[in-house]
Amino acid sequence: MLNICLTFDYELFLGKNFGTEEEILFAPTEQILKLLKSEKVSATFFVDICSVTQNEKLGRESYVNAFREQIQKMYREGQDVQLHIHPNWLRSSYKEKEWIFDQESYRLHFFGFDRNGDESAFAIINNSIHYLNNILCEVDKQYQCIAYRAGGFAIQPHKELVKALYDCGIRVDSSIAPHLVSKSNTNFYDYTHKTEQTNWYLSSEHEWWENSEKLGNSLYEIPIATENKNPISFLITRTISPEKIKLHLGRKKGAYINEDSSKGRKNQKISYWKYLSGYHALSLDAYSADFLYKQLCRYYKKNRCEARDVTAALIGHPKLVTDIYIENMKRLIQMIKSDTRFNLCNINEVYRKISH
Ligand SMILES: [Zn+2]
Repeated sequence: MLNICLTFDYELFLGKNFGTEEEILFAPTEQILKLLKSEKVSATFFVDICSVTQNEKLGRESYVNAFREQIQKMYREGQDVQLHIHPNWLRSSYKEKEWIFDQESYRLHFFGFDRNGDESAFAIINNSIHYLNNILCEVDKQYQCIAYRAGGFAIQPHKELVKALYDCGIRVDSSIAPHLVSKSNTNFYDYTHKTEQTNWYLSSEHEWWENSEKLGNSLYEIPIATENKNPISFLITRTISPEKIKLHLGRKKGAYINEDSSKGRKNQKISYWKYLSGYHALSLDAYSADFLYKQLCRYYKKNRCEARDVTAALIGHPKLVTDIYIENMKRLIQMIKSDTRFNLCNINEVYRKISH
């Protein structure tokens, strides 16, 4: 069986937002919630907590209230809510109706892991978990945040980070996108090390691709699903019927903080071949339902899911949602639901299963 977790990084653009917070985040999230409710599917929302604490600090109550109310609503509707951290919010400022985002502190590692520091990465994680727990305990006294996704997938070097997360109560990580690599002016990750692992225990005593085989001091990894394509058939299908592969997202709603340096002119040819032959994340933001479904079937086969239980996350972002996006996701959900090889579940449900 392949367990599929639909996951959404609930956040604004950290470069520039070409619209109000309502337009970029809250209204599109409503559209997702409506679909999940009508399809009776429970997904995981990784919510960007530093955006709220910083808005609160600067007295921007409207964002804080809308954020709190919406994540309480999603939880009440049976959605899973977990932690996402973009720490550069904490050094960003708000001027003339616009955020000026700090670039230097994009990665949590920037703050250091001093256990006693007020502004260390350890304090940021700890405070964020408490903040999230407090909001959701108003809905359910038993609520406890147990899962984490790093902003920009940035967990490397992972040893101190994993230890801090574990000590603050995190038990599941969903930041690793196997085979992918990225380098920009603000961030980097390199998950290209060869690995056969589909789910594993990530610990501070091992390399990120090694399984520590237990849940003590380690985090259960539910990776973001990645697949490679058959470049020739991809290129042919893309030329003949591009709509079968790429999702049309329409008007750009914002700009990212990371300018990917691999997209420079000089590297374009290599990049395009890499794009055709290399791995990519199974992203709800980028691909048509038919293409994602085919890729999930490949993932199932390649990872021998007929013989064992494997769990993988599909990633999406409310900030990229359009009507076409919702239609596409609906189609994908229905395709997955009608296939007995697949099971849709959220990350907290997976954690409950493995911890018993
Ligand atoms: Zn993010």
